[in-house]
Amino acid sequence: MEARFQCARVRLWGKIHFMPHVHPVRLVYQASANYDAHSDAGDEPFPRVDADDGFEVMRPNNQKHGWNLWPAQVQRDLYSLGLEECWRRPESLLEMFRTADTNEKRSKEWKIMIKQKVKKREQVRWKRCIHTQTMLRTYIQFKSELCLEDSEYLCDPHGGWNDLGLSARKFLTQLRTGSNQLRINTGRWCELPVEERICLMCAKEVETEQHFLLECSYYENERMELFSSVDKMIAASSHASIVAAGGDEFIMKNLPTSEQLSIMMANNHTIIEREKLSQKVRRMIALELVSWQKKRENQLEMMEEE
Ligand SMILES: [Zn+2]
Repeated sequence: MEARFQCARVRLWGKIHFMPHVHPVRLVYQASANYDAHSDAGDEPFPRVDADDGFEVMRPNNQKHGWNLWPAQVQRDLYSLGLEECWRRPESLLEMFRTADTNEKRSKEWKIMIKQKVKKREQVRWKRCIHTQTMLRTYIQFKSELCLEDSEYLCDPHGGWNDLGLSARKFLTQLRTGSNQLRINTGRWCELPVEERICLMCAKEVETEQHFLLECSYYENERMELFSSVDKMIAASSHASIVAAGGDEFIMKNLPTSEQLSIMMANNHTIIEREKLSQKVRRMIALELVSWQKKRENQLEMMEEE
């Protein structure tokens, strides 16, 4: 949301500067900017950085009267997007968009440029935030682009989901975001060191999402069966003829770990997608994972009773 406001502010600032000097809006802005330049905020130091540095939206320190002038905020916005020059020499705006012949066109190009810069700043900032949140470590492995509308991963256009489908979707989301009951997460609640958050099913390794999905011996048989079901689905598709023609055969267990993990977490995979099997495979895996989760829960209950 903050990014959207920033975008709107900086866009308007540019638009004002493409207006004639005597335009009332521009005159009001100019008066406000002059006032700001002579206030404490005008002397306040702040970093000059590029959009690639991914700074947070910078705020001016509150003035004595408790509010800030609009120009003070825009100045910080520009400085955090690598546009210091535009603030210091507004006439450089005209040079920037030399090829556009009308102010309307310049204003339009400015808008596009600002949108890209704010998006870049936000992407870098977002990536840094997410890196510091270990909860999301699995999620980020396959999530390199900022793309928040990624909720289509288990939509089912044909026929609704039953209750089992709903719990599958819920569990999958928990796996993807690290808000699940695996020990890597529950161990954090009691401040257990990471290396001691051992899987209670196999007692061998730390129970991470990857361990649960790909490595834990407790689900070995189920996993082998699931993998072979996926392989069979692909083999029954047109992919078989591609393999016969010298393409790569699709075998789940031979795929790189990152691809296996990605498929298990309902992400796109080129071959599965090409064969138009995404929905089917995702659904099958998700439902299967729910049964693993049940198996795990039952085992934990039994261990508690003992
Ligand atoms: Zn295990």
